[in-house]
Amino acid sequence: MATRRAAVVAAGVGSSVPVYAADTDGGVLVDVDGNSLIDLGSGIAVTSVGASDPGVLRAVADQAAHFTHTCFMVTPYEGYVRVAEELADLTPGGHEKRSALFNSGAEAVENAVKVARLATGRPAVVAFDHAYHGRTNLTMALTAKAMPYKAHFGPFAPEIHRMPMSYPFRDDPGLTGDEAARRAITRIEKQIGADSVAAIILEPIQGEGGFIVPAPGFVPALAEWARANGVVFIADEVQTGFARTGTWFASEHEGVVPDIVAMAKGIAGGLPLSAITGRAELLDAVHPGGLGGTFGGNPVACAAAVAAIATMRRLDLPARARHIEDVVMPRLRALAERMPAVGDVRGRGAMLAIEFVVAGGREPDPDLTRTVAARAFEQGVIALTCGTYGNVVRLLPPLVIGDELLTEGIDVLESVLGELTGVRGVPR
Ligand SMILES: *Cc1c(COP(=O)(O)O)cnc(C)c1O
Repeated sequence: MATRRAAVVAAGVGSSVPVYAADTDGGVLVDVDGNSLIDLGSGIAVTSVGASDPGVLRAVADQAAHFTHTCFMVTPYEGYVRVAEELADLTPGGHEKRSALFNSGAEAVENAVKVARLATGRPAVVAFDHAYHGRTNLTMALTAKAMPYKAHFGPFAPEIHRMPMSYPFRDDPGLTGDEAARRAITRIEKQIGADSVAAIILEPIQGEGGFIVPAPGFVPALAEWARANGVVFIADEVQTGFARTGTWFASEHEGVVPDIVAMAKGIAGGLPLSAITGRAELLDAVHPGGLGGTFGGNPVACAAAVAAIATMRRLDLPARARHIEDVVMPRLRALAERMPAVGDVRGRGAMLAIEFVVAGGREPDPDLTRTVAARAFEQGVIALTCGTYGNVVRLLPPLVIGDELLTEGIDVLESVLGELTGVRGVPR
């Protein structure tokens, strides 16, 4: 397969692990050779309800039997409206909302920025250190990390301004969320000018950048400043959304009500769908025809989203994500206490991470991180890495994973770490 692949698939498309999937449900992935792997990645936070949720499968088959596509801009259909109703209900805030549907997270982010610029008549967009917003031209400009996302792919879209993030493990000890927000706000006011800023875009918990949970108060302070200055506050909840962090959206942890929420990954049980939901006056400012796309809000993907959301509600997956945190986090904390190579453990719900450092300090250890993921894979566990410095192992299990599998996955990770660092895990 590797030879066939190399002969026809572009080298620039990478894969985390060299196995070809044959079957996967809600925690176990079976490869084409019949090997079983414990999935702690969910295809990057997508298959929260599992990769073959019966409700999603039924909805997809039903819808496909009627029609697979008409294009909502040509002949609309109910599924699109139904998804927008769900999003109005689920996203933070009781205000009047409007939604538009697209295909990918990057496309949702692009459209959030389009809406903010048109609605405000301003050009500048503020993004943060360690941010990840996608791989299209505008979203590459918003993304912070050069390799592998941006290097040699420029020139990039203009009027993107990068500000310092709150990164408790790497900030000066004791820097509060409010102080970190103030640091960014001062820069925004001095270097751009508040009345040139269309939008602030922020992941409430950063994903690819290293599962960075900002200090408490950071996100609310920025949202408040945005409101006071007529700046659109866009929460990029592409990775954090749909129950992943223990609430429907991560903004809720600090009571933040974004003006626009960008969503994708977990929305539709694995089918490609993305969305923006925001204040009616912002989205309705755009002229008819200004937003859309041929495939955006595909009817099969919409049917899948409605079914996936029904499963999330029925199984109370936000509670399930909190349970996963309760099972996994104490074990990660115990590792951090014992192992000098574990600099920090953090995250919320089923979005948890271990940051590796050269023993005891803060110097990132990407080699150890890569080895941990590779060894875990050899022992049957899919665990992904991330981080600006490539030194974070991130855990994103499907939210429907059983406790036994989850525990088995963490056992493997712990024993791999023990072997590699020479420090034994906590006896259980
Ligand atoms: C994955 C991701 C994106 C990009 O989504 P795609 O569907 O890959 O385009 C944007 N923002 C965040 C926070 C993400 O995690």
